[in-house]
Amino acid sequence: MNVADSQRVASALERLGYHATRRADDADIIVLNTCVVRQSAEDKAYSRLHSLRPLKEKRPGLVINLMGCMVGVRGSEKLQKRFPFVDVFSPPSDPGPLVAFLTQDESRSLERAETEERFAVMDGDLLLPVEERGRLISAHVPVVLGCSHACTFCIIPYRRGVERSRPVGDIMAEVRSLVAQGVKEITFLGQIVDRYGKDVADGPNLTALLRIAHDIEGLERIRFLTSHPSYMTDELLDSIAALPKVMPHIEVPVQAGDDEVLENMKRGYTSEDYRCLVEKIRQRYNGSFPGVSIATDIFVGFPGETAGQFQKTYDLLAELKLDVAHLARYSTRPGTVADRRMKDDVPDEEKWRRFRELEALQESIAAEINAMYLGKTAPVLFEQKVKGRWKGRTETNKLVFVESDQDLSGQVLPVSMTWTGPWSMQGTLPFVQGYGIPLQLVPNQL
Ligand code: SF4
Repeated sequence: MNVADSQRVASALERLGYHATRRADDADIIVLNTCVVRQSAEDKAYSRLHSLRPLKEKRPGLVINLMGCMVGVRGSEKLQKRFPFVDVFSPPSDPGPLVAFLTQDESRSLERAETEERFAVMDGDLLLPVEERGRLISAHVPVVLGCSHACTFCIIPYRRGVERSRPVGDIMAEVRSLVAQGVKEITFLGQIVDRYGKDVADGPNLTALLRIAHDIEGLERIRFLTSHPSYMTDELLDSIAALPKVMPHIEVPVQAGDDEVLENMKRGYTSEDYRCLVEKIRQRYNGSFPGVSIATDIFVGFPGETAGQFQKTYDLLAELKLDVAHLARYSTRPGTVADRRMKDDVPDEEKWRRFRELEALQESIAAEINAMYLGKTAPVLFEQKVKGRWKGRTETNKLVFVESDQDLSGQVLPVSMTWTGPWSMQGTLPFVQGYGIPLQLVPNQL
């Protein structure tokens, strides 16, 4: 079994462009595939592992992967403490965690590219033709156009005009057409999506919109973004927690953690308001796994932002431990209030320093949150194959990869997580032993 497993790992690594070498000294990656059937085999594995430590100290870039029964039997938590120089722990027969570790940078850029595309669609810079959207599993549907909020740094109100909600009939016709073409997940878009309907007398609000969409047969998942902290009402929070198709993932930007900076931005809330909102959102999902995921936007170096004010943003993020933080450095947009009335006075290198501090903090928070999925099963909607692996999303919008020869596109399947990192996870599908066929699942098994 171990020889076969090692061959699987070798071919997975060859697909990534690596090749075998006979000397550990020459290797960029060392996989120690372990057996614990007898005490002597286990002792040998431990001693070999200890012998690798000096190599790792000499070359910190070396990747050490401990694999096999030692991990499968013991779980990796204790091993991680005992062998901190090991980068990846994999259960028997599973090259996935190692592949996921080696492709983390790709996951990160994939996440960034998807976020940029989402915001480009929101800003109206990217309009996908309907026939192209139909080929997708997950599609965006704008519901509110423009914005009347006029935050001092933002160009959107000048470019996209005042807030206009689309008629509910048009939106639902579009959703039905997308679903008929195979789309399984819809994301309603708006600069402040929770203001949907507020510009129309007696029009439906976002809660009503979600309820109507919820009844559409064939539509599996509904998301919405971006929310504004001032407009997330209790009614909205209650209904999203009660509607099973509405995914437990909220995108609600805080932008900064200091009240004076927030006031200068004209955001209309304080850091304490934001803290209370996060608490209220989490209360709705208390006790359930995986609960709710919350994403935020923050930018550093707003005009006049002092080191102390930045520290408050850092402290807020460290305290709230949100799943995702989309980070940016302030740059002036011609024509905005900030451009006309404020001086872009935080030096570029200082903006970078603040950005990197938040980035490092968020990476450790995301790794900690995602580690809670390890060994657990979560439903994943699969979209497409990327470099030989199926890519999908959990309900909480976490990026997941699995290996499978079957066509998983558009399917929601339970995935058992075997590896987690800050940007993605790796998992396996439940298999009927010996046949390699996914179990037939009924919805309540998900
Ligand atoms: S940041 Fe958002 S809420 Fe503020 S003006 Fe821009 S689009 Fe509107």
